[in-house]
Amino acid sequence: MPQAYLDYAATAPVRPEARRAMAPLLSEAFGNPSSTHRLGLAARDVLESARECVALLLGASPDEITFTSGGTESINQALKGVALARRGEGHLVTTTVEHPATLETARVLEEWGWRVTYLPVDSDGLVDPDDVRRAITPQTTVVSVMHANNEVGSVQPVAEIARIARDRGALVHVDAVQSAGKLPVRVDDLGADLLSTSSHKLGGPKGVGALYCRSGVTLAPLLHGGGQERGLRSGTENLPGIAGFGAAVEAASRELPAAHARLAELGARLIDGVLYSVDAVRLTGHPVQRLPGFASFGFEGLEGRWLVKELSRVGVSCSTGSACSSETKEPSHVLAAMGLPEEVTRGAARFTMGWATTVEETQFAITAIPRAVERLRARGAAGDDLAAEYAQDCRSARDRAVRGLVAGALSRVLRRS
Ligand code: PLP
Repeated sequence: MPQAYLDYAATAPVRPEARRAMAPLLSEAFGNPSSTHRLGLAARDVLESARECVALLLGASPDEITFTSGGTESINQALKGVALARRGEGHLVTTTVEHPATLETARVLEEWGWRVTYLPVDSDGLVDPDDVRRAITPQTTVVSVMHANNEVGSVQPVAEIARIARDRGALVHVDAVQSAGKLPVRVDDLGADLLSTSSHKLGGPKGVGALYCRSGVTLAPLLHGGGQERGLRSGTENLPGIAGFGAAVEAASRELPAAHARLAELGARLIDGVLYSVDAVRLTGHPVQRLPGFASFGFEGLEGRWLVKELSRVGVSCSTGSACSSETKEPSHVLAAMGLPEEVTRGAARFTMGWATTVEETQFAITAIPRAVERLRARGAAGDDLAAEYAQDCRSARDRAVRGLVAGALSRVLRRS
């Protein structure tokens, strides 16, 4: 285990409440919620109580919640679902800093004949609501905007954008994958007709999420089959995952006000610590309007991907911008859209906190980051030898992990015999 896990924007450790909720469903309570015998009915109860937990978090009604395989599927289902239900052409307004789940779906809509407007952001990563006003036409079908950005943590003025869109008759989809469980995400306050969430970002298991669809909004399904989830998402439900998601949501909802304050304080401590002890570094994202516990920087004179490796070596887990692009050399589309200079975007790294982050982890990172930056800057931009060195490091870590697994399996076999 790292001494400081600061990559909650990629994924969070699974909460004990989620593990406890999942365990019986992986053993004796294995029923299918569509079966009508006792095991099936018990499974149905689990499914519906998880749905209630998610509905409560979002201020929605349980029949407006559909379980999916995660944020990516929720976003695809929301946007393609609107397009398929309406048939024919439409107009999507979105932003240049969305997650690829939205941007790639937008490209598919373009292939289907839709017009897509990608709104610019300012240097803090925020959309100007006046740009939304100007972009919307009578033909605009849906406005899709993320609540909090996954690379720089900036929180968009979603409620204001939604008011403009809904006044003009457009639907509003909100990608709340990063914000759910960290900020209030009540659908009426945000003005969302559709809203996507994901379990693993808030301490539930991976491979499960939810889509909120306001009652009265019609979506065409992407998956056809047995008609589960009121026909919107066929396929036997991932019940252990859904139960874990429900339990994680319940815990996150209960902790929300206290967790917000705690993470805001830890995040501010990390930001202040880094800005104080490192030269030529810039905080990326909005200085105030940002997710609590989200510290993202551009370190001049180094490459973010090497900083991530160097910090990993000393026990700090973080990432460059997004988990999907952490191995690439390309500047992130988010930082590029914010118009940041190349020397800042090249050295991007993000440190993100969540439900289990401690003061000690934060302090450890505050000490480790300046040292790692100094070491890398002293070596200069020696990309090739750094790559070889870190690859060797990774191989050794993998070898150690494999040896540990083999030793564990052997000792279990020996105990049994
Ligand atoms: N939207 C945002 C803002 C994200 O950060 C992510 C994941 O990183 C997703 C969507 C996709 O979610 P999932 O990993 O559950 O598919």
